[in-house]
Amino acid sequence: MRYFRLIALAAVTLAGLWTTACAPRRTSQSPSRPPATPPSTVQRTTTPVATPPPVAAAPQGELRGIWLHDPRGEDWRRVMADLHAAKLNAIFVKFSTGGAAYYPSHVLPGSYHAGRDEPALCLAAARQYGIQVHAWHVCFQMKDAPLDAQSRAIREGRVQLDRYGRVRRPSYRVPVLCPSHDWNRLQETRAMVELATRYPFDGVQLDYIRWPETEPCCCTNCKKRFTRDTRCAVRSWPADVTKGGRFAAQYQQWREQIITRLVGETSAAVRQARPSVKISGAVWSDVTIGRHDYAQNWKAWVDSGYLDFVCPMNYATDPATFTRRLADERAQVRNRIPLYVGIGAYKLNSGQALLQQISLARRGGADGWVLFNYDDQFRARMLPALCR
Ligand SMILES: [Zn+2]
Repeated sequence: MRYFRLIALAAVTLAGLWTTACAPRRTSQSPSRPPATPPSTVQRTTTPVATPPPVAAAPQGELRGIWLHDPRGEDWRRVMADLHAAKLNAIFVKFSTGGAAYYPSHVLPGSYHAGRDEPALCLAAARQYGIQVHAWHVCFQMKDAPLDAQSRAIREGRVQLDRYGRVRRPSYRVPVLCPSHDWNRLQETRAMVELATRYPFDGVQLDYIRWPETEPCCCTNCKKRFTRDTRCAVRSWPADVTKGGRFAAQYQQWREQIITRLVGETSAAVRQARPSVKISGAVWSDVTIGRHDYAQNWKAWVDSGYLDFVCPMNYATDPATFTRRLADERAQVRNRIPLYVGIGAYKLNSGQALLQQISLARRGGADGWVLFNYDDQFRARMLPALCR
């Protein structure tokens, strides 16, 4: 109960501080506001409780962003007006996947635009409000790819298979292109360059830049390339490269290097094509889990200077876990590039809880934060708290 009392007091304090920092119009709590703490608890509070630690002010240049995952038919003026009212200054819009673009693409097999130039409309509205736009690209997942493009990729052996030879569909219920294929990786790089050069985005962001599962991919190319690249004499695939197998360690290293090399090549290509654009990654919060389960060593990307900023998706709802993860993330980044922590707003149960997480992000030293994600639920449940 003491925990709830502290949380409630912190939430009320945070609401006040947020409005002080961002919108000085509101000067007091509404008297009609229902108490956040059960009345019985309030009545028993006869001795002072510990004052919540002061909330850090927004750091200079703080990025306050949000992801938006389907741009098709969006009312961009409304979106940007919402963001402006909420004091947000950046939006990350999914404009392409491993199989389709939501603009006329010359690189990806599917293009969905229905006569509307969504990136141009988005950018025009954003510029009116001074909001950055970052194009978010979902790597390898063939979401919204035309069925014939999916069939062709399967036929050509470019998609990931499980140990029974079945096409994997771990996300979005679509096939996943296998990163071991040169052609697949090249397509990812070309898609990012296309985004960076076709529209004047402020940045481009890699997402799902990892292997989708811990289990090895059983496509023909993986076995062939692993054997060739590592010279490991595989006799049984995937047993030899599965956890406990003879070459499990080599396999982990091999698939991690494939992703890291792709990030490096993509970063170089994007920077060469348009040096002013920021390149970033939406990455697994815990880099150890990211490396072990998905071969995503984003610390190596930071170490190598491949990214201009990084967004670890710290979607913990528990304040202590959120804070601990953020500290771990900062220890990996060591202030070499900005860290804009991802906040799982969709998992939080109130606008007050969101304000608390934003405050924790500031106190934890994040250079900014990005909320997941802008949709009707966010507008109804979270936006009012940010706008107050
Ligand atoms: Zn494969």
